[in-house]
Amino acid sequence: MRRVGLRVTGIVQGVGFRPFIYRLAEKHDVSGWVLNDDKGVYIEAEGQKSVIDDFIVGIRTEAPAMAVVENVTVQEMMLRGETGFAIHQSPAAKVRNALVSPDIAICEDCKREVLDKTDRRFGYAFTNCTNCGPRYSIVKDVPYDRPKTTMGTFVMCADCQSEYDNPMNRRFHAQPNACADCGPRYCLLDRTGNVIAGDPLKGAHAVIMQGGIAAVKGIGGYHLACDAKNEDAVAALRIRKFREDKPFAVMCGSMLAARSICEISADEEKLLRSPIAPIVLLRKKTNCDRVLAAEVAPGNPCLGIMLPYAPVHYLLLAKEDVWVMTSANRSEEPIAFRDDDAQKRLETIADVFLVHNREIYSRVDDSVMRMVQGAPYLMRRSRGMAPAPIRLAKKSISVLACGAEMKNTFCLTKGSAAFVSEHIGDLANQVTLRSYTGIIEHYKHLFEIKPQMIACDMHPGYLSTQYAHDLASAVLPLVAVQHHHAHIASVLAEHGEMDKVIGVAFDGTGYGDDACIWGGEFLFADCKSYERFGHFSYLPLPGGEKAAKEPWRQALWVLYLLYGDDLAAHQPEFVHTLPKNWQLLVQATKVGLNAPLSSSAGRLFDTAGSLLGIRNINHYEGQSAIELERLAAGALGDVLPYEITEKSEIDFLPVFRVLVENQTQRTRSELAMSFHKTMAAAIVEMVQRMSRITGIKKVALSGGVFQNKTLIDCVAARLPDEYSMLLNRKVPPNDGGLSLGQAAVAIANTKV
Ligand code: ZN
Ligand code: ZN
Ligand code: FE
Repeated sequence: MRRVGLRVTGIVQGVGFRPFIYRLAEKHDVSGWVLNDDKGVYIEAEGQKSVIDDFIVGIRTEAPAMAVVENVTVQEMMLRGETGFAIHQSPAAKVRNALVSPDIAICEDCKREVLDKTDRRFGYAFTNCTNCGPRYSIVKDVPYDRPKTTMGTFVMCADCQSEYDNPMNRRFHAQPNACADCGPRYCLLDRTGNVIAGDPLKGAHAVIMQGGIAAVKGIGGYHLACDAKNEDAVAALRIRKFREDKPFAVMCGSMLAARSICEISADEEKLLRSPIAPIVLLRKKTNCDRVLAAEVAPGNPCLGIMLPYAPVHYLLLAKEDVWVMTSANRSEEPIAFRDDDAQKRLETIADVFLVHNREIYSRVDDSVMRMVQGAPYLMRRSRGMAPAPIRLAKKSISVLACGAEMKNTFCLTKGSAAFVSEHIGDLANQVTLRSYTGIIEHYKHLFEIKPQMIACDMHPGYLSTQYAHDLASAVLPLVAVQHHHAHIASVLAEHGEMDKVIGVAFDGTGYGDDACIWGGEFLFADCKSYERFGHFSYLPLPGGEKAAKEPWRQALWVLYLLYGDDLAAHQPEFVHTLPKNWQLLVQATKVGLNAPLSSSAGRLFDTAGSLLGIRNINHYEGQSAIELERLAAGALGDVLPYEITEKSEIDFLPVFRVLVENQTQRTRSELAMSFHKTMAAAIVEMVQRMSRITGIKKVALSGGVFQNKTLIDCVAARLPDEYSMLLNRKVPPNDGGLSLGQAAVAIANTKV
């Protein structure tokens, strides 16, 4: 006989872990007990020696789907000779080390019950169990217990209570457990807040199928929903939401409906069906723009699709339905999640409001992913993922990294855990800034973190930087991390990479250490430091920040560099598309008036798009680049001439010359693909030069430009076999991953 104390850490609370241990103990005839505490799960187990071994193996191999077992430590103990196995009460928390599970998509068992006419949960939109349902979004405090969630106001009926109390039941200690008799419920309101009689779900479905727009309160916030096949409805949503042509994501009622409009590989299907249930960017089938309203994702080769992930979605959408499901906000405001606020902000957008009476404590947007180079790649890390920590290679002091300005997240570290927040959004307005500081406080409290160091971007104008300075104000050490160093460090941190690498950081904009705007950077870097080896040649941004929204500005300057004052004679068609007083801009830029220098690779994509006649104005970040990628799809293209100066600056003027002078000999698609291939060729040539000097064979790619799958594929195809390519896999390559990189740099620069 043998008795052991087992400490299990990871995501082991709120995921059915104790009933699982109970059943595992019964199966192996092990006696003892299990409890949740502030560090995770603790077990004492006694039984035959061989049986205890199997029991320990089973903890890892048979754990519930949503559990993440990070560690099992075993301690030998004196035999006690007790009989039976018990689930003990949780002791009161002293130090908080337990993790909070992210919100989990409805499991197969719950789905079956909700759709089964004979089940007592038939049609109940808040069905959940220990394997699925809301978690982080309803948690007010830890440890994770019902009174500390927004379910605390609902008292369980006798049936629910008996499920909750039964260790053999799937709902044993399922904190949000509820049924139609005792739990939250939906109701349908009109614009003025009056209740519309009848079944609220059927009512909302009818409104949508008749071309209306519904605001739907779900797990992490409100969605705006309309029929994606209805041109008028989608057009109305765009107008009311002030959103010109940024793609909408859709929810498909079934896998079959998704398959009818997009190409879906086995890996992509797995992502769609995963407990995260993210929006997956999928390649449109040729009929997609015929079946769906063209306005859903105009000019985009991909469509963001998700499957129903909350019971309400299964009850709301018929199998063949395809609905636009977009975050309920006006452009650039955070997603609405509080009821009064939503009603007020959305009354001019939605025709009806499908609301429920369970409070959403934390808003979480849908996560967005795509498959790149054979593995999931994140565009947005939020619902289903936050606040699960990312593990760092080593334990360290606690750092608060404040993130960037766009697509903001922050990162709090504790020990070896890096808690990267859910997607917060653009910090450019006070509303988002308030929610940002609120969420930081919430995380500090939930995970009991007292930061000993603050990290932020070098950009003095970022609100996150100003917040960092206020917070640090001489009490805490503050580290300002260069933007592109942080991008590369985010890759290194999530891969646990300690060696120096060749870092390629391409994005739209980031504050450089020479006061120029960087964005096409080649760095030798580890987490501690970086050395800038080379970059794209500086070009002025005519009109400053406006140049990012209006690609014609830099395109015009490129033409001036190519043709001088004769540019109108050389490129009459392009000039024809410009505002009347374009010459003023050339004059101003010549004398350096409001024309900051930039090495941004993102702007080069914009410029190429403008010169190829794709667009002169971006309505959303990266639009021109996305449309350039679409244009390139399927074309062959070849590498165009570019130059690398002796100062390791890449000059793309010769590339742009070919783009404007070859539009009659080659198709625009070929030229668009050529641009991608040329960018990849320049990257690989620079990497090889850097490798020749140092012998480094590891290449890390990060920054928003690397959301472009075509570019990554071109680089991967050209990069010789002896190199290894590291990509972001746990955080996005865009500024959403920046906070992790900032934290990693801060940690690498401490002596602890
Ligand atoms: Zn379930
Ligand atoms: Zn009940
Ligand atoms: Fe960036």
